[in-house]
Amino acid sequence: MSLLDVRGLTVTYAGGTAAVRGVDLRLEAGRKLGIAGESGCGKSTLALALLRLLPAGTRVGGEVLLDGEDVLAMKWGRLRAVRWAGASIVFQGAMHSLNPVRRVGDQIAEPVLLHRRATPAGARKRTGELLEQVGLPAARAAAYPHELSGGQRQRVMIAMALACDPRLIIADEPTTALDVMVQAQILRLIERLVADQDVGLIMISHDLAVLAGTCDRLAVMYAGRVVEEGPAGDVYEAA
Ligand code: ADP
Ligand code: ADP
Repeated sequence: MSLLDVRGLTVTYAGGTAAVRGVDLRLEAGRKLGIAGESGCGKSTLALALLRLLPAGTRVGGEVLLDGEDVLAMKWGRLRAVRWAGASIVFQGAMHSLNPVRRVGDQIAEPVLLHRRATPAGARKRTGELLEQVGLPAARAAAYPHELSGGQRQRVMIAMALACDPRLIIADEPTTALDVMVQAQILRLIERLVADQDVGLIMISHDLAVLAGTCDRLAVMYAGRVVEEGPAGDVYEAA
């Protein structure tokens, strides 16, 4: 069974825009799939649909099988758990951003407390471990987001995404807002984490070169459809 098996996915926004038009995709555990395509082709919509994070009134059809279980058909309670422990979405376009008035440690600890039922002491320990895993000292848990650089904030977001040991990480334009040096660091970090933990990665970018350097396979979208899919090297050469 694939980690993720998307079948005939369609997404139509309330206003009538058909943003995703019949997408089939597969990802095996521990593998990395890049999704490329020009702005407006439906990449973010696809990512959000995988966790049912689209605005109310959006029509979604098809199947999103995560470890064989259809995310689109799940009950709400199950979906909440799956959003952390099954698949986690990071960065831009996601619903998720750091709360400016809460310490980053508390923000990382929250899903650990809620979804792993950790004790407060256990959650604090786990938060320290997560920070170190993403290359920040555990003591940075006490910082507020504005006290961190853009790259450090991105690391905190990654720590949060990892908090409940997801099987799949969806990274939507993870490096777009960062300067070039920091971009490379964040990409290396994501690669290392994925390799160490055998989680699947879906990385979305308008930059095919970034994806080709990180992912095993690439899918290229155009106007809501996947128009090309294959081994990263082949798709990159052909483009
Ligand atoms: P990409 O991530 O590739 O830039 P998007 O998924 O953001 O593409 O957008 C795909 C299409 O859906 C575009 O035509 C965009 O204008 C439209 N769209 C995106 N978000 C919404 C929304 N919340 N409501 C209505 N239309 C949207
Ligand atoms: P609610 O819908 O009541 O906000 P959720 O448990 O779905 O409850 O989410 C709480 C908050 O946690 C959300 O507002 C979102 O910012 C964040 N969140 C939920 N799931 C994820 C996830 N998989 N990855 C990143 N952030 C998430």
